[in-house]
Amino acid sequence: MAVRKKGEYYYADSQLEIREVLAEYSADNAYPIDHFADAECDECGGRLFALELDDLQGAAVRICAACESEHAIGDSEDYLDEAEFEGCECICGCEALEITGGVALYDGSEDVRWLYIGCRCPECGVTGCYGDWKNEFNGYQKLLARI
Ligand SMILES: [Zn+2]
Ligand SMILES: [Zn+2]
Repeated sequence: MAVRKKGEYYYADSQLEIREVLAEYSADNAYPIDHFADAECDECGGRLFALELDDLQGAAVRICAACESEHAIGDSEDYLDEAEFEGCECICGCEALEITGGVALYDGSEDVRWLYIGCRCPECGVTGCYGDWKNEFNGYQKLLARI
């Protein structure tokens, strides 16, 4: 199966396909994604999370659906004080989502220019970019290790 579009929404069958949806979104945003990483709970290995984000401040926190441990995505830790987080949910109401991040780099560099956070709903398959922002960070591998 592959990503399908119905109306204004994309539907995907696996977390891997979040990458396809994000790639297309990022190409339209003029900063195409160079690298991806999937979120996995550091504590229990869980793959479903509640996601809270503030795309004005450029910060996001994920909370593991299995063990409730919280993790600041990327360099969000630095912006927690100023951020006004809003909880995310799928159009079907589901709040436990698969999360994959993508980064666009500066040309010929390992440094990050833009961060994208994509989610897929395990209940209905709806997949999309839930937030993206300018995220200057030296060394993309370090940032992606904290998705
Ligand atoms: Zn966990
Ligand atoms: Zn859903």
